[in-house]
Amino acid sequence: MVEPNFVGSTVRPTSFPIDTLIVGQGLAGTLLAWELARAGQRVATIDTCTQGGASRAAGGLMNPLTGPRLAASPDLARRCEQARAHYEHLAAQLGQPLVEPMPIRRLCRDAVEQGRARDMDHSWLGVWHADTRPDLFRAPFGSLEIHQGWRLDLAALLAGSAARWAMPDQAAAAGFDWTAIHLQGRGVRWQGHAIDCVVSCEGAAITKNPHWRGLPLHADGGESLNLHLPIDLPGAISAGFTLVPLDRQRYWLGATHHPGRAVSGPTDAGRETLLNALAARLRMPLPIEVLGHCAGTRMAPSDREPVLGRHPRWPWLAIFNGLGSRGILRAPDSAAQLARHLATGAPLPEDRDVVRYAHHLAWT
Ligand SMILES: Cc1cc2nc3c(=O)[nH]c(=O)nc-3n(C[C@H](O)[C@H](O)[C@H](O)COP(=O)(O)OP(=O)(O)OC[C@H]3O[C@@H](n4cnc5c(N)ncnc54)[C@H](O)[C@@H]3O)c2cc1C
Repeated sequence: MVEPNFVGSTVRPTSFPIDTLIVGQGLAGTLLAWELARAGQRVATIDTCTQGGASRAAGGLMNPLTGPRLAASPDLARRCEQARAHYEHLAAQLGQPLVEPMPIRRLCRDAVEQGRARDMDHSWLGVWHADTRPDLFRAPFGSLEIHQGWRLDLAALLAGSAARWAMPDQAAAAGFDWTAIHLQGRGVRWQGHAIDCVVSCEGAAITKNPHWRGLPLHADGGESLNLHLPIDLPGAISAGFTLVPLDRQRYWLGATHHPGRAVSGPTDAGRETLLNALAARLRMPLPIEVLGHCAGTRMAPSDREPVLGRHPRWPWLAIFNGLGSRGILRAPDSAAQLARHLATGAPLPEDRDVVRYAHHLAWT
C-alpha cells in the first residue's frame, strides 16, 4: 500500500490514490495529516476555510497556568514539553519557525486571586508585585509573571501544511458533502477515489455530519481581534482577556466565551466586549486599530478529553474532535495516537476513544 506520498509536493494531479482523506484542516486535521504521512500513508485534506474554524480564530498561546486557580496538573510539565517538541519538529519539517517563547504577565482579577498568587509557590510563577510600577496597564490587585509560556504560529502551520496535502481546488471548493460518499464493503468511494478511511476533523461542523452528529460535544463560541497598537510589549498579558504580541505592534486580543452556543461569525457585540475589556485595563487611552476579527467554536465533551477513533458501525469512517479550549496542548498527543490506531490498529486510550460515546451514534 505504501507508495511515494505527497510530502514536499505542492502541485496535485486531479486523480491520485488516497489512503486517508481528512475532512477539516484546522489544528486537528493538520496534525493528523503529518502523523499519517509519517506512517507512510497517502493523505489528502479538504477544507473550505469558510466555516469559521476555531484554529483560525485562536491566538496560539500555550499558557501553562490558566483559570482562576492557576492550578497545574501533576503531568502538565511533561505534556507542555512534549507538545512544544512536537511543534518544533514540524517547524524543522516546514523549514520555518513556528514556536516562540512567550513570557506572560498575569494581572490578578480580584482579591481572591491576589491572595492565591501571593501564597503560591510554583517554579513557573514569578513573584507577585503590587501595582506600584509605572506601567501601561492597571493592576489594582497586583500582577505576577508566568514562565514557560510559548506561542505557536498557527497560521503558518496551517498554511504550510495545506500546501502539502490540500485537494485540488475544484474538488474542495464546495466542501466535503457527506451525502455524496458511498460506503463500500471495506472503504469509501468518493468522486472516483477509493479511500480506506475518511476522518472527520470538522470542529463545530460535526453537528451537521450525518454519521457523527449525535456525539455529546458541547459548543463554546468565541471571538478574537487582530489589532495594531502603538506599543511594544515583551510578552503576553493575561487579565480576563489575553493580549498576545504577534509582530511589529500587531496584537491578537481574545477571547470571548459563549458556553452552550456555536458562533456563526464575528459580531459587533463580541468586538465591543473585547475592546472594552482592554480599554478598562489601560491607564491611558491608546489609538487602537482593528485589523481583523474572527469567530470560531471550541468543542468539548463533558469529560474534557478529545474524541478519537473509528465509527463503531462503519470503521472506515473516523473522527478527531473535542479539543476544547486548550487544543494546542492536547492535539499533538491525540494526533499521534489516532494515526497509530488508523495505520497499525494500535489500541486507543479508553478515555479518548470515541467508543465511549457509541450509544449516542446512529447505527443504521
Ligand atoms: C476564539 C478562540 C481562541 C482560542 N485560543 C486558543 C489558544 O490561544 N490556545 C489554545 O490552545 N487553544 C485556543 N483555542 C482552542 C483551539 O482553537 C481549538 O481547540 C482547536 O483549534 C480546534 O481545532 P479543530 O481542528 O478541532 O477545529 P477547527 O479549527 O474548528 O477546524 C475545523 C475545520 O473543518 C473545516 N470543515 C468543517 N466541515 C467541513 C466540510 N464538510 N468540508 C470541508 N471543511 C470542513 C472548517 O472549515 C474548519 O477549518 C481557541 C478557540 C477559539 C474559538
